[in-house]
Amino acid sequence: MELWYTEKHSEHAGFTLKVSKTLFSGESEFQKLEIVETPEYGRMMLLDDLVMVTERDEFIYHEMIVHPALFTHPDPKRVLVIGGGDGGSIREIMKHPGVEQAVLCEIDGLVIDKSIELLPSMACDINGSNPRVHVRVSDGLVYLREHQNAFDVILVDSTDPVGPAEGLFAKDFYRLVFGALKEDGLMVAQTESPFYHGEIQKHMYRNLRAVFPMVEMYQAFIPTYPSGLWSFAFASKRYHPIRDFHREKAQKRGFSTRYYNEDLHLGAFMLPTFVKENIAE
Ligand code: SAM
Repeated sequence: MELWYTEKHSEHAGFTLKVSKTLFSGESEFQKLEIVETPEYGRMMLLDDLVMVTERDEFIYHEMIVHPALFTHPDPKRVLVIGGGDGGSIREIMKHPGVEQAVLCEIDGLVIDKSIELLPSMACDINGSNPRVHVRVSDGLVYLREHQNAFDVILVDSTDPVGPAEGLFAKDFYRLVFGALKEDGLMVAQTESPFYHGEIQKHMYRNLRAVFPMVEMYQAFIPTYPSGLWSFAFASKRYHPIRDFHREKAQKRGFSTRYYNEDLHLGAFMLPTFVKENIAE
């Protein structure tokens, strides 16, 4: 018998993958967690039946949530990831030798534990082996209230705006992030699919612009996310992702990337007309 997993992207469309084996299935106090083996995309993490990461395409998402920020801020030393319990964002941050401390603030310890056990290529730096990494199991909202004016960069690598992550897309949350950033800090947050989630994005970017003086969207192609067209918000107190981009530093980065590069950094901020119009001020 063949086993297939389908994620519904709308009422009448979805994404289907053959599953060869279930490696873990369980519930935490926050959500259902499954890690399955798929012939096409390798191991895949699901939270409440939604695709979080797959071994085959996670490099795109994790390179793109991290490197545009860290090659725009002139000297990022302290970086906070909210969510990101699979460890992929932390792994990419660790490629930057100038980062002195990266904090992972993940609400669900089960996600961290199972990622270390079953997704070692992503969780390689959150297993206690890296002294520059500090792992905190906490609600990001609580952590931010306790750590104001503390970070150069904050990355919101959260689940979709439902369940434990619902509060991570509201104006009050963005105000907390703003306060947790130093005077020249900047934030990147994953902001869903411009193709399927236009209405959510309209509110999200309005909320962001009510808090940050500079807000830009950039995109990446992520095949296992709804429609494949995915987006990130770049919200900044001072530095602009194109004007203040350290292109030479990115060009001579000294580490490998398979999606991000110094040309794509610029191209990712060039948006299709329907996307620009949807989030226009
Ligand atoms: N790349 C994925 C995406 O774009 O959907 C996100 C992956 S990561 C697994 C998302 C994490 O956010 C989950 O582990 C979830 O537990 C965490 N999360 C959700 N709400 C949170 C909150 N309020 N504070 C901290 N972590 C939270």
